[in-house]
Amino acid sequence: MKKETLWQVGIKVEKNKKVINTPYQTDILIIGGGMAGIETAYHLKDSKQKVTVIDSDIIGFGVSSNSTGKLTYLQELPYHKLTQTFDFYTALKYLESQKEAIQIARKNMIQGNLDCNFEIVSSYTFTNDEKKIKAFQKEQAFFDKIKLPYQVVESLPIPYSIQYGIRVDDTAVFHPVKYIRGLLKIIQKNGIDVYENVRALTLEKHDKHYIVHTNRGDIIATKVVVTTHYPFFLDPGWIPLRTHIEKDYVGAAFIDSVHNFSAITEGSPTESIRYHQDQNAYIIYAGESHKTDKAMDTKKEYEKLKKQMEDYLQVTPLYQWSTHDVMTNDGLPFIGRMEKNNDHLLIATGFNKWGMTNGIIAGKILSDILLGKENEYEKIFDPNRSLNKKKVTSFFLDVYQTSKSILKTKLHTNKPYYPNNVKITHEDGKKIGIYTDENGREHKVRNLCPHLKCSLIFNEVDKTWDCPCHGSRFDIDGNVIEGPSVYDIKL
Ligand SMILES: Cc1cc2nc3c(=O)[nH]c(=O)nc-3n(C[C@H](O)[C@H](O)[C@H](O)COP(=O)(O)OP(=O)(O)OC[C@H]3O[C@@H](n4cnc5c(N)ncnc54)[C@H](O)[C@@H]3O)c2cc1C
Repeated sequence: MKKETLWQVGIKVEKNKKVINTPYQTDILIIGGGMAGIETAYHLKDSKQKVTVIDSDIIGFGVSSNSTGKLTYLQELPYHKLTQTFDFYTALKYLESQKEAIQIARKNMIQGNLDCNFEIVSSYTFTNDEKKIKAFQKEQAFFDKIKLPYQVVESLPIPYSIQYGIRVDDTAVFHPVKYIRGLLKIIQKNGIDVYENVRALTLEKHDKHYIVHTNRGDIIATKVVVTTHYPFFLDPGWIPLRTHIEKDYVGAAFIDSVHNFSAITEGSPTESIRYHQDQNAYIIYAGESHKTDKAMDTKKEYEKLKKQMEDYLQVTPLYQWSTHDVMTNDGLPFIGRMEKNNDHLLIATGFNKWGMTNGIIAGKILSDILLGKENEYEKIFDPNRSLNKKKVTSFFLDVYQTSKSILKTKLHTNKPYYPNNVKITHEDGKKIGIYTDENGREHKVRNLCPHLKCSLIFNEVDKTWDCPCHGSRFDIDGNVIEGPSVYDIKL
Protein backbone atom coordinates (compact mmCIF):
# COMPACT_ATOMS: atom_id res chain seq x y z
CA MET A 1 0.00 0.00 0.00
CA LYS A 2 1.27 3.46 -0.90
CA LYS A 3 1.35 6.06 1.86
CA GLU A 4 0.77 9.04 -0.41
CA THR A 5 -2.17 11.12 -1.43
CA LEU A 6 -3.88 10.17 -4.66
CA TRP A 7 -3.86 13.83 -5.73
CA GLN A 8 -0.05 14.06 -5.84
CA VAL A 9 0.31 10.92 -7.98
CA GLY A 10 1.37 11.66 -11.56
CA ILE A 11 1.55 15.43 -11.05
CA LYS A 12 4.62 16.68 -12.86
CA VAL A 13 6.26 19.17 -10.57
CA GLU A 14 8.89 21.14 -12.37
CA LYS A 15 11.00 22.23 -9.42
CA ASN A 16 10.62 25.97 -9.16
CA LYS A 17 14.27 26.95 -9.36
CA LYS A 18 13.65 30.67 -9.10
CA VAL A 19 15.84 32.08 -6.34
CA ILE A 20 14.52 35.01 -4.38
CA ASN A 21 16.96 37.91 -4.18
CA THR A 22 16.62 39.43 -0.75
CA PRO A 23 15.92 41.98 0.57
CA TYR A 24 12.97 41.71 -1.79
CA GLN A 25 10.19 44.26 -2.16
CA THR A 26 6.58 43.75 -3.22
CA ASP A 27 3.18 45.46 -2.89
CA ILE A 28 1.27 42.32 -1.89
CA LEU A 29 2.89 39.23 -0.39
CA ILE A 30 0.82 36.04 -0.21
CA ILE A 31 2.37 33.56 2.23
CA GLY A 32 1.21 29.99 1.51
CA GLY A 33 0.25 28.60 -1.90
CA GLY A 34 -2.60 26.22 -1.13
CA MET A 35 -6.23 26.58 -2.20
CA ALA A 36 -6.73 29.87 -0.32
CA GLY A 37 -3.43 31.48 -1.36
CA ILE A 38 -3.47 30.58 -5.04
CA GLU A 39 -7.16 31.47 -5.42
CA THR A 40 -6.37 34.89 -3.89
CA ALA A 41 -3.46 35.38 -6.30
CA TYR A 42 -5.69 34.36 -9.22
CA HIS A 43 -8.19 37.14 -8.43
CA LEU A 44 -5.28 39.61 -8.30
CA LYS A 45 -3.72 38.56 -11.60
CA ASP A 46 -4.94 41.65 -13.46
CA SER A 47 -4.18 44.12 -10.70
CA LYS A 48 -1.55 46.78 -11.32
CA GLN A 49 0.13 46.01 -8.00
CA LYS A 50 3.17 43.78 -7.70
CA VAL A 51 1.94 40.47 -6.25
CA THR A 52 4.28 37.77 -4.93
CA VAL A 53 3.52 34.28 -3.59
CA ILE A 54 5.91 32.32 -1.37
CA ASP A 55 5.51 28.76 -0.13
CA SER A 56 7.72 26.78 2.22
CA ASP A 57 7.27 23.70 0.03
CA ILE A 58 5.62 22.86 -3.32
CA ILE A 59 2.61 24.89 -4.39
CA GLY A 60 -0.60 22.88 -3.93
CA PHE A 61 1.07 20.07 -1.99
CA GLY A 62 -0.11 21.18 1.47
CA VAL A 63 -3.34 20.11 3.18
CA SER A 64 -5.26 20.86 -0.03
CA SER A 65 -3.56 17.87 -1.65
CA ASN A 66 -4.83 15.68 1.21
CA SER A 67 -8.49 16.62 1.01
CA THR A 68 -11.22 14.58 -0.62
CA GLY A 69 -11.85 17.32 -3.20
CA LYS A 70 -15.60 17.74 -2.75
CA LEU A 71 -17.23 21.05 -3.58
CA THR A 72 -20.47 21.01 -1.65
CA TYR A 73 -22.62 23.33 0.42
CA LEU A 74 -24.51 20.47 2.12
CA GLN A 75 -21.49 19.64 4.35
CA GLU A 76 -22.33 18.36 7.87
CA LEU A 77 -25.60 20.19 8.50
CA PRO A 78 -24.06 23.56 9.39
CA TYR A 79 -27.05 25.79 8.75
CA HIS A 80 -29.38 25.11 11.68
CA LYS A 81 -26.30 25.21 13.96
CA LEU A 82 -25.26 28.61 12.56
CA THR A 83 -28.81 29.87 13.08
CA GLN A 84 -28.40 28.98 16.76
CA THR A 85 -24.82 30.21 17.25
CA PHE A 86 -25.33 33.34 15.16
CA ASP A 87 -28.60 34.07 13.38
CA PHE A 88 -30.63 33.27 10.27
CA TYR A 89 -28.82 35.89 8.16
CA THR A 90 -25.37 34.43 8.94
CA ALA A 91 -26.52 30.90 8.09
CA LEU A 92 -28.02 32.12 4.81
CA LYS A 93 -24.89 34.06 3.87
CA TYR A 94 -22.70 31.05 4.66
CA LEU A 95 -24.83 28.91 2.37
CA GLU A 96 -24.69 31.49 -0.42
CA SER A 97 -20.90 31.77 -0.05
CA GLN A 98 -20.44 28.01 -0.45
CA LYS A 99 -22.71 27.95 -3.51
CA GLU A 100 -20.81 30.87 -4.99
CA ALA A 101 -17.49 29.07 -4.40
CA ILE A 102 -18.71 26.14 -6.52
CA GLN A 103 -19.66 28.59 -9.28
CA ILE A 104 -16.25 30.33 -9.04
CA ALA A 105 -14.45 26.98 -9.38
CA ARG A 106 -16.58 26.14 -12.42
CA LYS A 107 -16.00 29.54 -14.01
CA ASN A 108 -12.22 29.37 -13.39
CA MET A 109 -12.14 25.87 -14.83
CA ILE A 110 -13.93 26.99 -18.02
CA GLN A 111 -12.13 30.32 -18.45
CA GLY A 112 -8.71 28.88 -17.67
CA ASN A 113 -9.36 25.68 -19.61
CA LEU A 114 -8.23 23.78 -16.51
CA ASP A 115 -7.95 20.01 -16.77
CA CYS A 116 -9.05 19.32 -13.17
CA ASN A 117 -11.73 16.58 -13.37
CA PHE A 118 -14.46 19.02 -12.32
CA GLU A 119 -17.81 17.25 -12.35
CA ILE A 120 -21.28 18.09 -11.12
CA VAL A 121 -22.45 15.32 -8.76
CA SER A 122 -25.13 14.91 -6.08
CA SER A 123 -24.11 15.29 -2.43
CA TYR A 124 -25.55 13.31 0.46
CA THR A 125 -25.26 13.90 4.18
CA PHE A 126 -26.47 10.89 6.14
CA THR A 127 -26.58 9.19 9.51
CA ASN A 128 -26.93 5.75 10.98
CA ASP A 129 -27.78 7.20 14.37
CA GLU A 130 -31.47 7.60 15.06
CA LYS A 131 -30.78 10.32 17.64
CA LYS A 132 -29.35 12.55 14.92
CA ILE A 133 -32.44 12.52 12.69
CA LYS A 134 -33.83 15.53 14.58
CA ALA A 135 -30.81 17.58 13.46
CA PHE A 136 -31.54 16.62 9.85
CA GLN A 137 -35.12 17.78 10.27
CA LYS A 138 -33.94 21.13 11.61
CA GLU A 139 -31.69 21.49 8.56
CA GLN A 140 -34.66 20.63 6.34
CA ALA A 141 -36.72 23.35 8.06
CA PHE A 142 -33.98 25.86 7.19
CA PHE A 143 -33.94 24.68 3.55
CA ASP A 144 -37.76 24.85 3.40
CA LYS A 145 -37.70 28.41 4.69
CA ILE A 146 -35.34 29.53 1.93
CA LYS A 147 -37.01 27.25 -0.67
CA LEU A 148 -33.84 25.29 -1.37
CA PRO A 149 -34.59 22.07 -3.26
CA TYR A 150 -33.47 18.83 -1.53
CA GLN A 151 -34.55 15.19 -1.17
CA VAL A 152 -34.90 13.10 1.98
CA VAL A 153 -33.36 9.66 1.37
CA GLU A 154 -33.02 6.34 3.15
CA SER A 155 -30.35 4.84 0.90
CA LEU A 156 -27.30 5.77 -1.17
CA PRO A 157 -26.91 4.81 -4.85
CA ILE A 158 -24.64 1.95 -3.66
CA PRO A 159 -25.29 -0.77 -1.09
CA TYR A 160 -24.18 1.09 2.04
CA SER A 161 -25.92 1.23 5.39
CA ILE A 162 -27.73 4.50 6.11
CA GLN A 163 -30.82 5.31 8.17
CA TYR A 164 -31.61 8.82 7.06
CA GLY A 165 -30.10 11.42 4.78
CA ILE A 166 -30.52 14.55 2.66
CA ARG A 167 -29.49 14.89 -1.00
CA VAL A 168 -28.86 17.96 -3.12
CA ASP A 169 -27.88 17.85 -6.77
CA ASP A 170 -26.05 21.06 -7.69
CA THR A 171 -22.67 20.24 -6.12
CA ALA A 172 -19.36 19.03 -7.57
CA VAL A 173 -16.09 17.14 -7.15
CA PHE A 174 -12.69 17.95 -8.64
CA HIS A 175 -8.97 17.20 -8.52
CA PRO A 176 -7.69 19.82 -6.03
CA VAL A 177 -4.01 19.71 -7.04
CA LYS A 178 -4.70 19.91 -10.79
CA TYR A 179 -7.02 22.86 -10.08
CA ILE A 180 -4.45 24.74 -7.96
CA ARG A 181 -1.56 24.04 -10.32
CA GLY A 182 -3.73 25.04 -13.29
CA LEU A 183 -4.37 28.41 -11.65
CA LEU A 184 -0.66 28.62 -10.79
CA LYS A 185 0.31 28.49 -14.48
CA ILE A 186 -2.15 31.30 -15.26
CA ILE A 187 -0.98 33.60 -12.46
CA GLN A 188 2.66 33.11 -13.43
CA LYS A 189 1.83 33.93 -17.06
CA ASN A 190 0.21 37.11 -15.76
CA GLY A 191 3.41 38.25 -14.08
CA ILE A 192 2.87 37.12 -10.49
CA ASP A 193 6.17 36.01 -8.96
CA VAL A 194 6.02 32.65 -7.21
CA TYR A 195 8.80 31.29 -5.01
CA GLU A 196 8.83 27.80 -3.52
CA ASN A 197 11.00 26.65 -0.59
CA VAL A 198 10.73 30.06 1.04
CA ARG A 199 9.46 29.75 4.61
CA ALA A 200 8.12 32.77 6.48
CA LEU A 201 9.54 32.77 9.99
CA THR A 202 8.37 35.98 11.62
CA LEU A 203 6.37 39.06 10.77
CA GLU A 204 7.38 42.59 11.78
CA LYS A 205 4.98 45.54 11.59
CA HIS A 206 6.32 48.95 10.56
CA ASP A 207 4.53 52.25 9.88
CA LYS A 208 3.88 51.74 6.19
CA HIS A 209 4.98 48.17 5.54
CA TYR A 210 5.68 44.74 6.96
CA ILE A 211 8.99 42.92 7.01
CA VAL A 212 8.62 39.17 6.67
CA HIS A 213 11.75 37.36 7.80
CA THR A 214 12.15 34.15 5.82
CA ASN A 215 14.72 31.36 5.66
CA ARG A 216 15.96 33.04 2.44
CA GLY A 217 16.14 36.61 3.75
CA ASP A 218 13.80 39.53 4.29
CA ILE A 219 10.75 40.47 2.23
CA ILE A 220 9.33 43.97 2.52
CA ALA A 221 5.65 44.15 1.65
CA THR A 222 3.01 46.84 1.87
CA LYS A 223 0.28 44.22 2.35
CA VAL A 224 0.58 40.66 3.64
CA VAL A 225 -1.88 37.79 3.18
CA VAL A 226 -1.39 34.78 5.46
CA THR A 227 -2.77 31.61 3.87
CA THR A 228 -0.45 29.09 5.53
CA HIS A 229 -3.37 26.88 6.68
CA TYR A 230 -2.48 27.75 10.30
CA PRO A 231 -0.74 31.06 11.07
CA PHE A 232 2.95 30.83 11.95
CA PHE A 233 2.64 33.55 14.63
CA LEU A 234 0.53 33.89 17.76
CA ASP A 235 -0.08 37.61 17.89
CA PRO A 236 -2.14 39.10 16.29
CA GLY A 237 -5.06 36.71 16.19
CA TRP A 238 -4.26 34.21 18.96
CA ILE A 239 -5.64 31.51 16.68
CA PRO A 240 -4.64 28.54 18.94
CA LEU A 241 -7.04 29.86 21.57
CA ARG A 242 -9.93 30.00 19.14
CA THR A 243 -9.46 26.73 17.31
CA HIS A 244 -8.58 23.08 17.67
CA ILE A 245 -7.14 20.61 15.17
CA GLU A 246 -8.80 17.45 13.90
CA LYS A 247 -7.06 14.64 12.10
CA ASP A 248 -8.62 12.25 9.57
CA TYR A 249 -7.44 9.23 7.61
CA VAL A 250 -8.18 8.77 3.92
CA GLY A 251 -7.90 5.77 1.59
CA ALA A 252 -8.33 5.34 -2.16
CA ALA A 253 -8.99 2.01 -3.88
CA PHE A 254 -9.49 0.81 -7.46
CA ILE A 255 -13.04 0.01 -8.47
CA ASP A 256 -14.70 -1.01 -11.76
CA SER A 257 -16.65 2.16 -12.42
CA VAL A 258 -17.46 5.44 -10.69
CA HIS A 259 -20.79 6.70 -9.32
CA ASN A 260 -22.06 10.20 -9.71
CA PHE A 261 -22.30 11.24 -6.04
CA SER A 262 -20.40 12.13 -2.89
CA ALA A 263 -21.53 11.46 0.68
CA ILE A 264 -20.59 12.21 4.28
CA THR A 265 -21.97 11.45 7.72
CA GLU A 266 -23.10 14.17 10.09
CA GLY A 267 -20.56 14.53 12.93
CA SER A 268 -18.42 11.74 14.35
CA PRO A 269 -17.50 9.11 13.40
CA THR A 270 -16.85 10.46 9.92
CA GLU A 271 -17.59 8.27 6.94
CA SER A 272 -16.97 10.09 3.67
CA ILE A 273 -17.28 8.67 0.17
CA ARG A 274 -16.57 10.01 -3.30
CA TYR A 275 -15.42 8.67 -6.64
CA HIS A 276 -12.70 9.79 -9.01
CA GLN A 277 -12.04 8.88 -12.62
CA ASP A 278 -8.59 9.37 -14.15
CA GLN A 279 -6.92 6.66 -16.20
CA ASN A 280 -8.37 4.43 -13.45
CA ALA A 281 -11.60 4.51 -11.46
CA TYR A 282 -11.22 5.08 -7.70
CA ILE A 283 -13.38 5.18 -4.62
CA ILE A 284 -12.06 7.59 -1.96
CA TYR A 285 -13.07 7.00 1.63
CA ALA A 286 -12.29 9.09 4.75
CA GLY A 287 -12.89 8.12 8.36
CA GLU A 288 -11.39 7.80 11.83
CA SER A 289 -11.68 11.48 12.64
CA HIS A 290 -10.27 12.60 16.02
CA LYS A 291 -8.69 15.56 17.78
CA THR A 292 -4.92 15.45 17.31
CA ASP A 293 -4.21 14.69 20.98
CA LYS A 294 -6.49 11.65 20.94
CA ALA A 295 -5.66 8.32 19.23
CA MET A 296 -1.90 8.85 19.02
CA ASP A 297 -1.17 5.42 17.53
CA THR A 298 -1.22 6.26 13.81
CA LYS A 299 -0.61 2.67 12.72
CA LYS A 300 -3.73 1.51 14.53
CA GLU A 301 -5.83 4.26 12.93
CA TYR A 302 -4.64 3.31 9.42
CA GLU A 303 -5.49 -0.32 10.14
CA LYS A 304 -8.97 0.67 11.33
CA LEU A 305 -9.55 2.67 8.14
CA LYS A 306 -8.43 -0.24 5.97
CA LYS A 307 -10.79 -2.59 7.81
CA GLN A 308 -13.70 -0.16 7.37
CA MET A 309 -13.05 0.03 3.62
CA GLU A 310 -12.92 -3.75 3.40
CA ASP A 311 -16.04 -4.27 5.54
CA TYR A 312 -18.25 -1.43 4.28
CA LEU A 313 -17.15 -1.18 0.63
CA GLN A 314 -15.45 -4.51 -0.12
CA VAL A 315 -12.32 -2.77 -1.42
CA THR A 316 -8.70 -2.68 -0.25
CA PRO A 317 -7.02 0.71 -0.23
CA LEU A 318 -4.17 1.21 -2.66
CA TYR A 319 -3.32 4.67 -1.29
CA GLN A 320 -3.68 5.85 2.30
CA TRP A 321 -2.88 9.20 3.83
CA SER A 322 -3.70 11.24 6.93
CA THR A 323 -4.33 14.93 7.25
CA HIS A 324 -5.70 17.52 9.63
CA ASP A 325 -7.69 20.72 9.48
CA VAL A 326 -8.29 23.74 11.70
CA MET A 327 -11.68 23.81 13.44
CA THR A 328 -13.03 27.11 14.79
CA ASN A 329 -15.00 27.30 18.01
CA ASP A 330 -18.05 28.89 16.39
CA GLY A 331 -18.28 26.91 13.15
CA LEU A 332 -17.25 29.69 10.74
CA PRO A 333 -13.81 30.19 9.14
CA PHE A 334 -11.65 33.26 9.83
CA ILE A 335 -11.30 35.15 6.55
CA GLY A 336 -10.35 38.82 6.38
CA ARG A 337 -8.48 41.42 8.43
CA MET A 338 -6.29 40.09 11.23
CA GLU A 339 -6.78 43.37 13.06
CA LYS A 340 -9.78 45.69 12.97
CA ASN A 341 -9.46 48.50 10.39
CA ASN A 342 -6.13 47.21 9.08
CA ASP A 343 -6.40 46.31 5.37
CA HIS A 344 -2.70 45.47 5.25
CA LEU A 345 -2.65 42.15 7.09
CA LEU A 346 -5.19 39.53 6.01
CA ILE A 347 -5.73 35.89 6.90
CA ALA A 348 -7.73 32.83 5.88
CA THR A 349 -7.83 29.83 8.22
CA GLY A 350 -10.19 27.63 10.25
CA PHE A 351 -11.99 26.02 7.33
CA ASN A 352 -13.59 23.29 9.49
CA LYS A 353 -12.69 20.60 6.90
CA TRP A 354 -14.48 22.51 4.12
CA GLY A 355 -11.52 24.45 2.78
CA MET A 356 -12.11 23.69 -0.89
CA THR A 357 -15.21 25.88 -0.99
CA ASN A 358 -13.99 28.10 1.88
CA GLY A 359 -10.51 28.45 0.36
CA ILE A 360 -12.08 29.50 -2.94
CA ILE A 361 -14.43 32.02 -1.35
CA ALA A 362 -11.49 33.24 0.79
CA GLY A 363 -9.64 34.05 -2.46
CA LYS A 364 -12.53 36.23 -3.58
CA ILE A 365 -13.02 37.97 -0.22
CA LEU A 366 -9.33 38.67 0.40
CA SER A 367 -8.72 39.95 -3.12
CA ASP A 368 -11.78 42.21 -2.85
CA ILE A 369 -10.44 43.70 0.40
CA LEU A 370 -7.02 44.22 -1.23
CA LEU A 371 -8.60 45.88 -4.25
CA GLY A 372 -10.81 48.10 -2.07
CA LYS A 373 -14.04 46.43 -3.21
CA GLU A 374 -17.00 45.56 -0.98
CA ASN A 375 -17.70 41.88 -0.44
CA GLU A 376 -21.05 40.65 0.85
CA TYR A 377 -19.47 37.80 2.88
CA GLU A 378 -16.77 39.85 4.57
CA LYS A 379 -18.84 40.42 7.70
CA ILE A 380 -19.76 36.83 8.55
CA PHE A 381 -16.16 35.57 8.21
CA ASP A 382 -14.57 38.55 10.01
CA PRO A 383 -11.70 37.15 12.16
CA ASN A 384 -12.42 39.93 14.68
CA ARG A 385 -16.03 38.91 15.26
CA SER A 386 -16.84 39.06 18.93
CA LEU A 387 -17.75 36.18 21.18
CA ASN A 388 -21.42 36.30 22.10
CA LYS A 389 -22.81 34.32 25.03
CA LYS A 390 -23.53 31.28 22.89
CA LYS A 391 -19.94 31.11 21.70
CA VAL A 392 -18.21 31.70 25.03
CA THR A 393 -18.60 28.06 26.15
CA SER A 394 -16.88 26.66 23.06
CA PHE A 395 -14.18 29.36 23.36
CA PHE A 396 -13.33 28.19 26.87
CA LEU A 397 -13.53 24.57 25.74
CA ASP A 398 -10.85 25.29 23.11
CA VAL A 399 -8.67 27.16 25.64
CA TYR A 400 -9.09 24.23 28.04
CA GLN A 401 -8.40 21.73 25.25
CA THR A 402 -5.20 23.56 24.19
CA SER A 403 -3.89 23.69 27.77
CA LYS A 404 -4.83 20.04 28.33
CA SER A 405 -3.07 18.97 25.12
CA ILE A 406 0.14 20.73 26.12
CA LEU A 407 0.05 19.21 29.61
CA LYS A 408 -0.83 15.75 28.31
CA THR A 409 2.15 15.72 25.95
CA LYS A 410 4.42 16.71 28.84
CA LEU A 411 3.40 13.57 30.73
CA HIS A 412 3.70 11.43 27.65
CA THR A 413 6.75 9.15 27.57
CA ASN A 414 7.36 5.77 25.97
CA LYS A 415 3.96 4.32 25.16
CA PRO A 416 3.40 0.59 24.80
CA TYR A 417 2.49 1.07 21.13
CA TYR A 418 5.90 2.47 20.23
CA PRO A 419 7.99 -0.10 18.40
CA ASN A 420 11.39 -1.08 19.80
CA ASN A 421 13.19 1.31 17.47
CA VAL A 422 11.57 4.43 18.99
CA LYS A 423 12.66 5.79 22.34
CA ILE A 424 11.88 8.92 24.30
CA THR A 425 14.51 9.83 26.85
CA HIS A 426 16.22 12.76 28.58
CA GLU A 427 19.72 14.07 27.94
CA ASP A 428 21.18 17.11 29.74
CA GLY A 429 17.71 17.95 31.03
CA LYS A 430 16.24 17.95 27.52
CA LYS A 431 13.55 15.59 26.26
CA ILE A 432 14.96 13.66 23.30
CA GLY A 433 13.30 11.41 20.70
CA ILE A 434 15.38 8.67 19.11
CA TYR A 435 14.40 6.70 16.02
CA THR A 436 16.66 3.86 14.89
CA ASP A 437 16.36 3.15 11.15
CA GLU A 438 16.58 -0.19 9.27
CA ASN A 439 20.37 0.15 9.05
CA GLY A 440 20.69 0.61 12.80
CA ARG A 441 21.45 4.32 12.53
CA GLU A 442 20.09 6.47 15.34
CA HIS A 443 18.26 9.70 14.46
CA LYS A 444 18.03 11.96 17.51
CA VAL A 445 15.79 15.02 17.74
CA ARG A 446 14.69 17.44 20.44
CA ASN A 447 11.28 16.23 21.53
CA LEU A 448 9.70 19.68 21.83
CA CYS A 449 7.57 21.53 19.28
CA PRO A 450 9.01 25.05 18.79
CA HIS A 451 5.47 26.42 18.24
CA LEU A 452 3.92 26.13 21.72
CA LYS A 453 6.35 23.73 23.42
CA CYS A 454 4.25 20.55 23.24
CA SER A 455 6.08 17.22 23.34
CA LEU A 456 5.98 15.23 20.11
CA ILE A 457 4.76 11.74 19.35
CA PHE A 458 6.29 9.39 16.80
CA ASN A 459 4.15 8.56 13.78
CA GLU A 460 5.30 5.09 12.93
CA VAL A 461 3.60 4.93 9.55
CA ASP A 462 4.86 8.17 8.03
CA LYS A 463 8.12 8.08 10.06
CA THR A 464 7.61 11.58 11.38
CA TRP A 465 7.52 13.33 14.76
CA ASP A 466 4.03 14.86 15.06
CA CYS A 467 2.77 17.55 17.41
CA PRO A 468 -0.52 16.47 18.96
CA CYS A 469 -1.40 20.06 19.90
CA HIS A 470 -1.45 21.93 16.58
CA GLY A 471 -0.31 19.45 13.96
CA SER A 472 3.31 20.48 13.20
CA ARG A 473 5.35 17.61 11.74
CA PHE A 474 9.09 16.95 11.55
CA ASP A 475 11.10 14.30 9.71
CA ILE A 476 13.32 11.82 11.56
CA ASP A 477 16.26 14.23 11.35
CA GLY A 478 14.25 17.08 12.84
CA ASN A 479 13.51 19.13 9.71
CA VAL A 480 10.11 20.81 9.91
CA ILE A 481 7.83 19.50 7.14
CA GLU A 482 4.52 21.01 8.21
CA GLY A 483 3.63 24.07 10.30
CA PRO A 484 2.56 25.96 12.33
CA SER A 485 6.12 25.46 13.61
CA VAL A 486 8.58 27.22 11.34
CA TYR A 487 11.66 25.91 13.12
CA ASP A 488 13.41 22.53 13.04
CA ILE A 489 13.88 20.31 16.11
CA LYS A 490 17.47 19.27 15.38
CA LEU A 491 19.66 18.87 18.41
C1 LIG B 1 -9.60 14.37 5.56
C2 LIG B 1 -9.98 15.71 5.04
C3 LIG B 1 -10.74 15.79 3.90
C4 LIG B 1 -11.11 17.04 3.41
N1 LIG B 1 -11.93 17.08 2.32
C5 LIG B 1 -12.44 18.25 1.94
C6 LIG B 1 -13.40 18.31 0.89
O1 LIG B 1 -13.78 17.29 0.31
N2 LIG B 1 -13.92 19.51 0.56
C7 LIG B 1 -13.56 20.66 1.22
O2 LIG B 1 -14.12 21.71 0.93
N3 LIG B 1 -12.58 20.65 2.16
C8 LIG B 1 -12.02 19.48 2.54
N4 LIG B 1 -11.09 19.44 3.54
C9 LIG B 1 -10.52 20.69 4.07
C10 LIG B 1 -9.44 21.23 3.14
O3 LIG B 1 -8.60 20.21 2.68
C11 LIG B 1 -8.58 22.29 3.85
O4 LIG B 1 -9.39 23.13 4.62
C12 LIG B 1 -7.85 23.15 2.81
O5 LIG B 1 -7.13 22.32 1.95
C13 LIG B 1 -6.91 24.15 3.46
O6 LIG B 1 -6.34 24.92 2.43
P1 LIG B 1 -5.23 26.01 2.73
O7 LIG B 1 -4.94 26.73 1.48
O8 LIG B 1 -5.64 26.79 3.93
O9 LIG B 1 -3.99 25.14 3.24
P2 LIG B 1 -2.83 24.37 2.43
O10 LIG B 1 -3.35 23.67 1.26
O11 LIG B 1 -2.11 23.56 3.45
O12 LIG B 1 -1.90 25.54 1.93
C14 LIG B 1 -1.04 26.23 2.82
C15 LIG B 1 0.33 26.37 2.16
O13 LIG B 1 1.13 27.19 3.00
C16 LIG B 1 2.45 26.71 3.00
N5 LIG B 1 3.07 27.17 4.25
C17 LIG B 1 2.82 26.74 5.51
N6 LIG B 1 3.58 27.43 6.39
C18 LIG B 1 4.32 28.31 5.68
C19 LIG B 1 5.27 29.30 6.02
N7 LIG B 1 5.62 29.53 7.30
N8 LIG B 1 5.85 30.03 5.03
C20 LIG B 1 5.50 29.81 3.72
N9 LIG B 1 4.59 28.89 3.35
C21 LIG B 1 4.00 28.15 4.31
C22 LIG B 1 2.31 25.20 2.90
O14 LIG B 1 3.46 24.61 2.33
C23 LIG B 1 1.08 25.05 2.00
O15 LIG B 1 1.42 24.86 0.65
C24 LIG B 1 -10.69 18.21 4.05
C25 LIG B 1 -9.89 18.15 5.20
C26 LIG B 1 -9.55 16.91 5.70
C27 LIG B 1 -8.76 16.84 6.97
